[in-house]
Formats: sequence, structure tokens, C-alpha cells
Amino acid sequence: METEDEQGTVGGRRLPTVRFECGEYFIDNRLREFRSVTPPIRRVELIKFDEPRGRRMLLEACVRLRCSACKHRFAVARRSTEHETWCPGCRRWLVIPEAFWMKEAQDSGMGP
Ligand SMILES: [Zn+2]
Repeated sequence: METEDEQGTVGGRRLPTVRFECGEYFIDNRLREFRSVTPPIRRVELIKFDEPRGRRMLLEACVRLRCSACKHRFAVARRSTEHETWCPGCRRWLVIPEAFWMKEAQDSGMGP
């Protein structure tokens, strides 16, 4: 069983984060929850994906990706500047093409 430290690192890989309202949160696809990134860590805010607030975060701040290798579905931050992310299902690094984010921006009405 893998352990996770307070920096949001699982098996040596840092969890992706998302900004929502005035906070930054780790996206934990494995536990299906968001956790606040609050240095220094005093009280971690924990929001489950299926809570109303978690659903809003998924909807407004995240997009769902599907791993082409293992078909695992997981959330990443919308309008992320990251071009690589790792699949929490099979641990492969996935390249996110620029075109994906541009399409996202258009679909959500935020594009040019
Ligand atoms: Zn995968």
C-alpha cells in the first residue's frame, strides 16, 4: 500500500492541483477528493468529488480525461498550463496536446 505525504506526493509523484475560488487544491483521483494546499499545513480542507461543492469544482474548474492506455477516467485542472499529467490508473505519463486546451477553452466559452 502506498503512502502519501503531506505535500500531496504519491509514490514520488506530486498530485495535480486546481485553483478554485480563492484556494488551491490537490486533485486526488484515487480517493476522489480535493484537498486544500495550505502551507503551512494546519487544517486541510477535504472535499469529496461527490459532495455538492466537489461536483461544482469538477464542473467549473476541472476537465475529465480518459487514459488511452488503461481507459481510466480522471480529473485534471481546466486551463492547466501542464502539458503532461500522469494517469492515476496505470501511472503512465500522458501528454496533453495544446489543441486539447484550446478546444476546452472554446467549448466553455472562454476561447478567442
Ligand atoms: Zn492509464
